[in-house]
Amino acid sequence: MLDSIRTRLTLWYTGVLALVLVVLFVITYLVFLRSVQRRMDTDLSELSKAFLVTVHAELEDQTAPEPFLAAVEEAIAEHHFRDHVYAILDANGKVVAQSVEEDPANSRKSSEPANLLESVSFQQFVTSAPQGERFFGIVKGGRSGYRACARRFTAQGNSYTLVILRSLGPQAEMLEEVTETFAWVIPIAILLASGGGYFLARKSLAPVVAMSSQAGRIGAANLHERLPVQNEKDELGHLAGSFNGLLDRLAESFDRQRRFMADASHELRTPVAILRGESEVTLSQQARSAEEYRESLCVLHHEAERLTRIVEDLFTLTRADAGQYPLQPRDFYLDELIADCVHSARTLAQAKKISLTFEGAPESPIHADESLLRRMLLNLLDNAIKYTPECGRVIVSCQRNGQEYAVSIADTGRGIPAELRPRIFERFFRADQARSRSENDGGGAGLGLSISRWIAQAHQGRLELARSDSTGSTFTAYLPIDSGHPASPS
Ligand code: ADP
Repeated sequence: MLDSIRTRLTLWYTGVLALVLVVLFVITYLVFLRSVQRRMDTDLSELSKAFLVTVHAELEDQTAPEPFLAAVEEAIAEHHFRDHVYAILDANGKVVAQSVEEDPANSRKSSEPANLLESVSFQQFVTSAPQGERFFGIVKGGRSGYRACARRFTAQGNSYTLVILRSLGPQAEMLEEVTETFAWVIPIAILLASGGGYFLARKSLAPVVAMSSQAGRIGAANLHERLPVQNEKDELGHLAGSFNGLLDRLAESFDRQRRFMADASHELRTPVAILRGESEVTLSQQARSAEEYRESLCVLHHEAERLTRIVEDLFTLTRADAGQYPLQPRDFYLDELIADCVHSARTLAQAKKISLTFEGAPESPIHADESLLRRMLLNLLDNAIKYTPECGRVIVSCQRNGQEYAVSIADTGRGIPAELRPRIFERFFRADQARSRSENDGGGAGLGLSISRWIAQAHQGRLELARSDSTGSTFTAYLPIDSGHPASPS
């Protein structure tokens, strides 16, 4: 049950609310208690003042044998209130007058306990009262105790202490009422809040439930389906949006993979079909001349080579995609590598009477993976020669611009149509799709430029088609001097 966010949210919400209510109750209780006590002290202080005024006034008019006692009695009678006790003590702390009746049967003046003024608590209060004008304290007794106010005064040359006690009963009753009220208000509020909290949590999490059941239904077969977005501006809308974005990317990657697989199998089918056809035809006759066997083997060898190249290219791209093609950089001279590649491609160029020249470059030290750069350069040279008609020209140059080299391979071929230029770096893309793979023109599988671009990017550089028109094309590879820190392939 606690595994449900709804329940956990409700419990948290209820717990926090209960804590807030309890704290609120404690604060209210304390503030109330303090304010009642302050008011009571002010009342007692005023009452003691009025009492003494009465005592002094009565003393002036007294004709009785004990004028002080008579005056005090008068004052007690005049200021008689419910829940109040008066006591006048002489300088020795002996009670000379009081409002508590000694005889409980005749307890007309007060409803307070008769032995209140003899109690230890009262004695302690009187002895601890300083000589100052007023002193407040608590005296135990009765149901809830008393708030006590002591006041020194002199009459007829003697000093006395007036003590007024006021029962804390009404105040305790009031506080009890407050406590009782909170005691039923808090549980009801918590009950209502937990019900409301559960309802709200359920309502707010409903889209999550809908999203999770929809997400559970999405698989490879229906990857185009998306999660419902109720309000794209709120948090859940953002979540659904992000999830849908993830599905978009996954679907795109799935499509790419599917296309890649389809294209790869398509590319592999042709050489395999040729291998099979050629071998079947050769084997169909019992006896063949050595010359015929040789021709067949040449075809088989050529196709096997082509197959090997495609499989190697596919393997390179797959490893590059998985980030598992570690660069092996070392220091060498780029101009020497270019000269070497140009030399290797010379035979191909000569076969087509193409003039292949390297304009030469000053010493160009570089820190990079030599075999990968060689592969890239041979790919570009191979393309330049392949797509340039007989008697054309291919010019290779290398320039240093700041911290990078720009290696350009320009040809005088037929160029690439403008609408196809953005796609030439795509895998398996061939501008001239009509050209059959089986033709002996050396036409590749359309992977050469993809691999070359990856090689440039793996060296933190880039490969661009700098120019292409009817007079020819120029491919330029930009390579940082220190390309030894591999970048992840894009
Ligand atoms: P391929 O194996 O077909 O050469 P690439 O990836 O190397 O594949 O090249 C992709 C396509 O780009 C080629 O099929 C070709 O149409 C076009 N292309 C590449 N280089 C050149 C070039 N120098 N001149 C004209 N077209 C080119």
